[in-house]
Amino acid sequence: MTVIKTEALVLKSIPFKETSSIVQLYTKEKGKVSVIAKGARRLKSPFRGYLEPLSYVEVIYYHKPTREIQTLSKIEFIQTFFQNSTEITDTAYAMAVMECIDKFIHGHQKDERIFLLMVNVMKFMDSNRDFIKEAFIYFLLKISATLGYKTDFSTCSVCKQPLKSALYEPSTGRIICRRCADFQERVLLLRDEILDYMRILEKVDLEAGLPKFQLAKPSIDVIDFLVSYISYHLDFPVKLKSLEILANLEFNIEEK
Ligand SMILES: [Zn+2]
Repeated sequence: MTVIKTEALVLKSIPFKETSSIVQLYTKEKGKVSVIAKGARRLKSPFRGYLEPLSYVEVIYYHKPTREIQTLSKIEFIQTFFQNSTEITDTAYAMAVMECIDKFIHGHQKDERIFLLMVNVMKFMDSNRDFIKEAFIYFLLKISATLGYKTDFSTCSVCKQPLKSALYEPSTGRIICRRCADFQERVLLLRDEILDYMRILEKVDLEAGLPKFQLAKPSIDVIDFLVSYISYHLDFPVKLKSLEILANLEFNIEEK
């Protein structure tokens, strides 16, 4: 058994037995890790208040390679994101980042790029509330590339000709031109505006900020496309609860 001290982001926390919680973390040193926080739901527990998703923490835990769930010993805040947020949509996008990591990443390999991407996206979202949706699209593009499924918005993946307008074919995971589309299959149109935006976004460095223009329409469709693209390449379906909440919210806003 070794003692591990690392920075981490809390992905989710679920009650376990009478008073404990099982906490899913993405750690800087060990990748995705589950820990048990014994007695965390007792009123006087030193863990209370630290285990909510969106907490950026430093943890100390006991690590045993043969165990699936490690034992949390100590936890301290580095930063809590969206602490006083009253906007459900803002929090939902931030939660969607946590949910993506929880669902996209399996196994325990450490990947510091993923950890840094999450921290940078969270910091950006928290201090640029007007660009949260765009930051989430940026996150999806980057996580896709980091996992080895970089999107190509410049050439058709069938005929290799430059793409002007593009279609996404969910059944094959390909981004293609109109000539190559088999319209028997369901296809998703990627509007020119969206293609241009993605090409720019792929090259952006978040620390320098995002382009100061926004997508005109609600971009749930772009997000759906990227999640579907990543799911296809990971080879398992991913449904994100936070996105269902967002889709309902956007629908209600449009109705009003
Ligand atoms: Zn083509």
